[in-house]
Amino acid sequence: MPETPISDGKVVEIHFTLTLEDGEIADSSRDQDPMLYLHGGDNIVKGLEKALLGKTAGDKLSVDVAIAEGFGEHNPEGVQELPRSELPDDVELEVGMEFGFEHEDGSVMTGWVTAFTDETVTIDLNHPLAGETLHFEVEVLSVREALPVEIEHGHPHGPGGHEH
Ligand code: ZN
Repeated sequence: MPETPISDGKVVEIHFTLTLEDGEIADSSRDQDPMLYLHGGDNIVKGLEKALLGKTAGDKLSVDVAIAEGFGEHNPEGVQELPRSELPDDVELEVGMEFGFEHEDGSVMTGWVTAFTDETVTIDLNHPLAGETLHFEVEVLSVREALPVEIEHGHPHGPGGHEH
């Protein structure tokens, strides 16, 4: 039976290692369960998704992803300093922690704490890997049709995907 090629609407199981330009390993699935993503669902960076199109289970690939097709350029306007009083008192601040907070227009944004003092907290709305060229080593483990509910939610369910 021919292997199913990856295309929009497929749930794909991969192992990956993400390395930055300086050789630092930024993320890897190798020490945990493989990652599931929905192809065409914006679950992974654009450059990696493009490279995986048409691949099948068993394929291994090396992918260089330019900044524009990765997490984008670092936008200085995304760095915001807030008075610490705007955050709940019970938050134990830590550099690198992820934060959901409400923007002026009511939309919820994700930011990362990059610095803090007793009075202020600096939050960066850029992804921590913005401005980085990404290198992925990827192994495709399996490819299957997404369930209708997965298409509806925009992400895969089950082990390695969303548990809900
Ligand atoms: Zn879901």
